[in-house]
Amino acid sequence: MDCLKIKEIIPSYIIHCATDEDVLAVEEHLCVCQDCRRYLSDQMEKPRKVFAQLPTKEIPAKANTIEYIILSLGAIIFIGLLILLFSNGE
Ligand SMILES: [Zn+2]
Repeated sequence: MDCLKIKEIIPSYIIHCATDEDVLAVEEHLCVCQDCRRYLSDQMEKPRKVFAQLPTKEIPAKANTIEYIILSLGAIIFIGLLILLFSNGE
């Protein structure tokens, strides 16, 4: 199989969606072709680079949301306990 064909299969190979036949062909080819090995590692690096470029603002925003939910739950539980205490007293 030639390099062009292998490079067509590599994306599905990476996400484990290639057929057994294609996987075998890719792995046999990678043993003998440095160019395709480099291509494969470049393709595998891509998602990591995409994640690295994601704005970091999203993480504190999510943390704030979780904190807000926890605080709200805490307040609800506190009010619930107060109501319980008062209703028991009567
Ligand atoms: Zn090749």
